[in-house]
Amino acid sequence: MSPRRDDVIVIGAGLSGLMAARELEAAGRSVRVLEARDRVGGRTWTRSLRGHPIDLGGQWVGPTQDRVLALARELGIETYEQFDRGRKVMELGGQRSTYRGLLPWVGLGGLAELGLRVGQLELMARRIPLRAPAERADASALDGQTVRAWLDRRVRNPKARAVLRIATEMVFAGEPEDLSLLFFLFYMHSGGGFVRLTSIRGGAQAQRLKGGAQGLSRRMAEALATPVEHGQAVHAVLQEPEGVVVHAGNRSLRARHAIVAVPPALAAEIDLGPARSERRRRAEQGMPMGSVVKCIVVYPRPFWREAGLSGESISDGEPIRATFDGCSPDLSFCALVAFVIGGSAGGFGARPSEERRALVVEHLVRLFGAEAAEPVAYEDQDWSQEAWSRGCYVGLMRPGVLAEVGNVLREPAGRVRFAGTETAARWCGYFDGALRAGERAAQEVLEAMRAEVPGDV
Ligand SMILES: Cc1cc2nc3c(=O)[nH]c(=O)nc-3n(C[C@H](O)[C@H](O)[C@H](O)COP(=O)(O)OP(=O)(O)OC[C@H]3O[C@@H](n4cnc5c(N)ncnc54)[C@H](O)[C@@H]3O)c2cc1C
Repeated sequence: MSPRRDDVIVIGAGLSGLMAARELEAAGRSVRVLEARDRVGGRTWTRSLRGHPIDLGGQWVGPTQDRVLALARELGIETYEQFDRGRKVMELGGQRSTYRGLLPWVGLGGLAELGLRVGQLELMARRIPLRAPAERADASALDGQTVRAWLDRRVRNPKARAVLRIATEMVFAGEPEDLSLLFFLFYMHSGGGFVRLTSIRGGAQAQRLKGGAQGLSRRMAEALATPVEHGQAVHAVLQEPEGVVVHAGNRSLRARHAIVAVPPALAAEIDLGPARSERRRRAEQGMPMGSVVKCIVVYPRPFWREAGLSGESISDGEPIRATFDGCSPDLSFCALVAFVIGGSAGGFGARPSEERRALVVEHLVRLFGAEAAEPVAYEDQDWSQEAWSRGCYVGLMRPGVLAEVGNVLREPAGRVRFAGTETAARWCGYFDGALRAGERAAQEVLEAMRAEVPGDV
């Protein structure tokens, strides 16, 4: 047992854990951050490709994400606009077309239905109370059905249904048949609605961070008084009358409180002893991670822009579900960013690298033309292969879980508090939610510490 006893041990050095640590240090508390990986940032990961930063994990920020925008400003990380000028490409049932605006052209009847159903989803989402989604009178009825069941029942036009299916897959990195409708509506509301979540301009994909998104975590970690300890996979957090004992490998570390800032599917494997309630267990087990392989395909020129295309596409073909322009602002780096999502990601990720590259390039040729056949570099990242993420972007609630477990994921378990983007009420699933959750967990610990020692500030 280490003789040092900190005020708080934070488990996980993603955005959420680092924000919690920063808040606690700012309040004068001693903090130790334990991280399983050899790097900080978790689901953000910026690597270098041909001398340019590429984000293999999360990359966008947008309006109303006040916490992350303020943090970026404070840390001196600039943002730049995601390129979105020109026509978008859609491939549906093997047919390619181009369009402008938010909704693709799916025939007059299809477009009318698409508009109607998007409006209906917006309204349904807005009625979900963010702080207590399970408290709606019809929570169980909404939670008892999948998004797929709702789409099949409500959306008659097959093309409109296909587009809504692609949008769901892209926002969640999961399949509509696996998602609870109540969770889907909560998540939509949490991020400001369907249109905001699926848009570039004015939406969740509006801006990118100069130098890459992992910079946020790197800079927060650098500013901590005590360096993050890497290679520290925590497997138990057990409680004593006056504190916690955190077990990582063969180390046992003491603190007054702990904050677990890892995704619920990974938190499930940390032994909390009797402090883990049955509701918590059910929530963690009912929220497996989504599946995504993110692919960066580099070209000598932005040939799609030259052809009047924005680089955005959606497709119900294989393997790519959507693409975006991934060029640097000065065009010294030109790339398309492609997402392989949900059910497609598993088989795709299991193939050898050369095959994955060939499949992606073949699909890009269908979407953007023959010039897509000659990339100069390719890199991809299968998040399901990452032991300390087990998939991405987020944990996705299966039907029948949320109405039963309510807010248990953000409820304390004795001296253990929980952060992580999945516990956020606003911008759940995003950087911004991760930061908000970190702040909340830190505040909870500070309040508990003040209550323990009256007069302690
Ligand atoms: C491909 C992709 C695209 C995305 N796009 C966007 C986007 O554009 N915009 C956006 O806002 N969000 C996006 N996201 C989601 C975003 O990255 C996450 O919401 C956010 O980074 C989560 O932060 P976190 O701190 O909650 O969790 P994490 O980043 O998962 O941090 C948890 C940390 O805990 C560590 N850990 C896990 N288990 C243990 C253990 N037992 N012991 C010690 N350490 C442990 C992990 O290694 C990790 O570092 C995307 C994610 C992916 C993967």
